[in-house]
Amino acid sequence: MTRRNDTTIWHSTANVAALLQKPGKQIALTIHVNPDGDAIGSALGLFRVLNKMGHHCHVISPNGLPSFVSWLPGAETIYRMSDAPEIVSELIRKADVIFALDFNELKRVKDMEPAIEASTAYKVLIDHHPGPENFCTCTLSDTSASSTAELVFRFLQETGLLPYVDREVATCLFCGIMTDTGCFSYNSSNRNTWETVATLLDFKINKDAVYDKVYDNFSVERMRLLGYSLNDKMEVMPVYRTAFISLSRTDQLKYNFQDGDSEGFVNYPLSIKGIRFSVLFIEREDHVKISLRSKGNFAVNAMARKYFNGGGHMNASGGETRLSLEETINLFKRILPDYSHKLLENEY
Ligand code: 5GP
Ligand code: MN
Repeated sequence: MTRRNDTTIWHSTANVAALLQKPGKQIALTIHVNPDGDAIGSALGLFRVLNKMGHHCHVISPNGLPSFVSWLPGAETIYRMSDAPEIVSELIRKADVIFALDFNELKRVKDMEPAIEASTAYKVLIDHHPGPENFCTCTLSDTSASSTAELVFRFLQETGLLPYVDREVATCLFCGIMTDTGCFSYNSSNRNTWETVATLLDFKINKDAVYDKVYDNFSVERMRLLGYSLNDKMEVMPVYRTAFISLSRTDQLKYNFQDGDSEGFVNYPLSIKGIRFSVLFIEREDHVKISLRSKGNFAVNAMARKYFNGGGHMNASGGETRLSLEETINLFKRILPDYSHKLLENEY
């Protein structure tokens, strides 16, 4: 049975539940490039359940994890395509079941894409981004969910796998929900999110410790980079209710930039009174990574898709260009006036 409305495609989980009943399956859990707390929390929670059931399960990622989630139970077992392409390709090739977690377009897995596409494994998508591609046998997609972690919990409930959930699994899933809702400040208006959290708390997770490890773990350099970004690198454009931050390679070098160090920076300009749209440009070796955030009904995913080869949620999206940092910012300034009426009429 398929339930379908504007935001949900939820295929029957009966086949995958039956498939998982017999232990010993080879299972690959795949996540998107530059994985975030939700991708990693979802994957590691499910990883622990499936291993406890007696499956041979591995989490595989296109590249490395940010340090704020590297403490999660099982994180040390994640294989990266960027470090171990042969091992990862082999895990995909021999998988009986592949889960796609927290992404819905195959291009988001970068170099793992051809192997996943070629695989004849039973593929299950669990995700909450709009517009899922049709590359899985079983698609479990609900854009009204806070996070993929919430949907992994729903999947475990529906397939009768809750008995395998323990404190570690609950910690991973809680971390996914917490990070994808900015500590319950957005994407968390659904009763189901809170009910899921309430159930996870029953497993005696240490919620305060999760918060501390994720958010209060800045290196001194990262903290100073944040100060520098806000003080020297933020441009405010009040006529468009917009502010943006850009960080060049030189800026990053100066502050010993590590993967994940700019995580969350894009949210700060939204704390300025009247600002409804915030963008972060990060210069990388061969591209510029762009993060877009908004408040209210200004859809940043439309801009990310149209100009930055990206996508995501209405209020939180990302993309990239192959232009220089300066050219990217110029492009942004050029297109911004086209959005001015939407930005100015944007209210809750
Ligand atoms: P972030 O700015 O934190 O990298 O990403 C914000 C949101 O946009 C996340 O939900 C992420 O999955 C999505 N996103 C980021 N980069 C891309 C991209 O290049 N393509 C697509 N389709 N989504 C992206
Ligand atoms: Mn997510």
